Formats: sequence, structure tokens, C-alpha cells
Amino acid sequence: MTKRFTTRIAPSPTGDFHLGTARTAYFNWLAARASGGRFILRIDDTDLARNNEDSVRVILECMDWLGLDHDDMFRQSDRLARYREVADALIRDGKAIIAENGGIVMRNGLAASWTDLIGGTQAPGPKNHDLASGQVLIKADGMPVYHFASVVDDIDSGVNLVIRGIDHHTNTFRHSAIYCALDAPMPDFAHLGLIMLDGKKMSKRDDAASLLSYRDAGVDPDAMLNFLLRLGWGPARDDKSMAIIDRDRALTLFLAEGRMRSSPAGFDTAKLASFDRKYKSRKAAAAASAELSA
Ligand code: GLU
Repeated sequence: MTKRFTTRIAPSPTGDFHLGTARTAYFNWLAARASGGRFILRIDDTDLARNNEDSVRVILECMDWLGLDHDDMFRQSDRLARYREVADALIRDGKAIIAENGGIVMRNGLAASWTDLIGGTQAPGPKNHDLASGQVLIKADGMPVYHFASVVDDIDSGVNLVIRGIDHHTNTFRHSAIYCALDAPMPDFAHLGLIMLDGKKMSKRDDAASLLSYRDAGVDPDAMLNFLLRLGWGPARDDKSMAIIDRDRALTLFLAEGRMRSSPAGFDTAKLASFDRKYKSRKAAAAASAELSA
């Protein structure tokens, strides 16, 4: 029997819902749903200066538009006492100390190896140990650092697979030291390649990166999902029969007959437009035949 994956998407509500976040959300959703596991929506809202409620609404609207349902949702801002409790336990165990400014930092702390479903075993180098050791867990203002809050949340919610962008690869070594300090097993990871636009990393500021702009332009959400799927995942046998992989088909193929990729994925507007046309004509044909048989 395949492992049941508990996965999550953890957007920060600090602006637009990025196309890359939508891709990560879809892949995590697919891994959870295809394995009979659970999919969690976590709002990473501990950056008080940058959070805004409008962005939380946008996140929910985007997930809804794509049809990616979740089994549980929570906000990090509701768990501040929990992060403090875990940090205090680390202090009691001699694994963390209170810094001069009142923040809490890890003592020592070595980075550990972890498993990437794409790249296999990832072993830490000296730089990773430097980052992991002495890292801040709780800032002087009492707010948790993302690395710490994220690990505590993933442990508490039983997350056993984290699919995210390759820009988090180094972070995972930091996280490994926190998992070790907390005596918790690490999840599996999959770090997806960057999305590239015109040869450069697509940035949050690129107009093409805003998911809502596609909804507002009338793009079909299923076409968008198919497009996102192909930005970092490919079927084992990639031939003409794979030209259209809708959500139902993706559920059967994603884990069993395909692979995620860590290589960069080129964003191609023409490809999206072509999926959009295909999905719209498929839906129009299905609606016409339903009307005929009614
Ligand atoms: N809030 C983080 C981000 O948006 C989550 C990263 C993660 O998946 O751990 O980058």
C-alpha cells in the first residue's frame, strides 16, 4: 500500500497569490488526494508588518477558483502560545537559550541529512551547519521565526511530505536541526524548480505571476491546473496521449506514473492559451452533448 501523505500549502498573506504558490498548492493537493491523505491550508501570518486580511481573502478565493479543497485550515498567529511552549521546552532541555535581547536561539544544533523525492538524500555541508547552529527561534518581539513556526506546525499537524520551491532547499537544512532538537522525524521533501519568465526567475512583481489576473481574464480554472501541472511535473511516458491531463487524470498519474522536477520550468503564455482553448472547447462539446441527450 502506498503511504498516505499529509501535505500543506503555507502561503504568507502579504500580497498577491503567486502562480508558483498555485503550482505548489496543486502538487501538495494531488499528493494528499492521490494517496488518501490530508491536505492542510496554513496561513503564515506572523509578519505583522506585512500581513493583510485582503490577502487572506485572495488566498481563499484562489484555492476556491482552482477547486483545491482542504481538510483543515489554521493561522500561525493563533498558535503563538504553542511556539513559545515548544521553545521553553527546548530551553529546559538545554537545547536553546534566551539571548541578550530577550529572543530565543538554538544552542549548537547540527544540520542533518534528509530525503528529497526528486534529488534523493541531501547531506549537509559546513555552510548548512553554520546556518543551522545558533539560529533564532523566537525574536525579541516574541514572534516566532518562520523556520521554527513552520517546523512546529508540520510536526503538530502530522505533515509527512513537504513540496515547495527549490528556493527553500537551504532552509530545509536549518529545519533539519530543529527537527533533531525536537526529536521528531523529518517529513519527505520535494523541492520544485523555479518558474522562469523570459529567462529570469518569475518574481512576485511580474504581472504574469498573479493568479487572480487569470481568473479575471476568464481563463478556465481546469486549463490553469493542467498548465501548472506541467510546470515541474512530467508523466513517465510523455507522448501525445498526455496532451491533456485534467485533474481526475492527474490524480491517477501524479504519484504512480510521473515525476516532479527540480530543473527550472519555463512559463509560456502561449501554452496556457492553448490549454485554455482546448478545455473550453471540451466543455462546450460536453455541454452540447448533455443538451442533446436531455
Ligand atoms: N510561508 C512560506 C512561503 O510562502 C512557506 C514555505 C514552506 O512551504 O515552508 O514561502
